[in-house]
Amino acid sequence: MRIKYALYTLLMLLAGLTGPAQTIVLDNPTLIDGTGKAPRALHNLVIQGDKIVAIDGEYTGRRATKIDMRGKYIIPLINDVHAHLGILKDTVMSSANYTPENVHRHLLKFEAYGVGAVLCMGTDHPEIFDLRRASRKDSLTGATIYTAGRGFGENSGLPPPSFGMDQVFRPETPDEARKDVREMAVYHPDLLKMWVDDGRGKVPKMPPEIYSAIIDEAHKNGIRVAAHLWYLEDARKLVDAGLDVIAHSVRDQEIDDDLLAKMKSKGVIYIPTLSLDEFAFMYGDDPDWINDPFFKASLEPGVYEMITSPAYKNKVTRDPGSAVEKAALQTALKNLKKVYDAGIMVALGTDAGAQPVRAMGFSEHMELELMVKAGLTPLQVITIGTLNGAVLLRAEKETGTIAVGKKASFIVLDKDPAADIRNSRTIHAVWKNGKVVSSGPLTDH
Ligand SMILES: [Zn+2]
Repeated sequence: MRIKYALYTLLMLLAGLTGPAQTIVLDNPTLIDGTGKAPRALHNLVIQGDKIVAIDGEYTGRRATKIDMRGKYIIPLINDVHAHLGILKDTVMSSANYTPENVHRHLLKFEAYGVGAVLCMGTDHPEIFDLRRASRKDSLTGATIYTAGRGFGENSGLPPPSFGMDQVFRPETPDEARKDVREMAVYHPDLLKMWVDDGRGKVPKMPPEIYSAIIDEAHKNGIRVAAHLWYLEDARKLVDAGLDVIAHSVRDQEIDDDLLAKMKSKGVIYIPTLSLDEFAFMYGDDPDWINDPFFKASLEPGVYEMITSPAYKNKVTRDPGSAVEKAALQTALKNLKKVYDAGIMVALGTDAGAQPVRAMGFSEHMELELMVKAGLTPLQVITIGTLNGAVLLRAEKETGTIAVGKKASFIVLDKDPAADIRNSRTIHAVWKNGKVVSSGPLTDH
């Protein structure tokens, strides 16, 4: 390993001696930079190495390669800050699926859909930390890994081990919770994740003395904490206990002004994961995108056959839980608008990869569309999907917007997503760190 690294360093030095990095000039794209600014027609965007060095500016470099981008739109890569890696394969959720190869396959799939980074929320195995290191150094391709490491759940409660979520601490006392946090802190996870939910009264819920200990001990170790939740009253208690990130929508009631004010003053980040709620019932309703190749390409083998089978559709339609989920989505949509209008930071998450029906890659584009349905503008949701996720990941100095000095990482689209957010699906190419890494999920594109 050490020899390999020395060789790599030598090669990089030699590459540096042969002259400045190659210059690439994108001619005449329309820029949507991720800050919320209106689309702007550019003369050029100039890339050297992995960075953007000029926008509508002068550039040097005789060997500049020009690429005609008239009629194309560029937006930053999407950051999905609530997803799950490695446990899904075909139609099966299992801990046994979690291998470096399966994680890497998922990273490539996310990337093909324009997702630049993924935060895996609490279901990772110990291998993730080596994979994260490789991913951040660019020696592992695909979306960049961020991880909450091993999450914190409740005994006989969430998350369900039957979904491959068995690499989770389930502390029974505050002392045990603190010990578990310290054990995880050694690995420097990007944050910690805990589940505070009784599954609509079906299973025991993590009690306040446990989650308070987790938050307190994590903060002592300089780590932020995110929570899976459902109920308004849990959100209130968690925010009072110092929670940093709400990792799903509040779905039982509308959020009141008192909690909104607290979330705002404490800088809590809110991840609505609307697509999760939609996916819980949508396949029973024959959605208009069910045969869209952009959707089908995101599915694991066998999932399309599963979700279009009469047996599955029947099950979803008859399940009393589907009506609960439909109502939950409506509440979630209202709450997103309230949270956004209150000036609270919202970031994009999907829970993709936590169940076979939550398709990796497609979910992120559906999430953008659902946020527009909640009453936000396409430009606002593009900022949520790009810059705000980078802020949550503390990566905004290098990614999240398209600006001089930042990484040349963006999606090239055939149609304007500011005019119709569904145009985020017209992926022509995905660029990461100055290189084309994918031409989208459809090979015949
Ligand atoms: Zn999740």
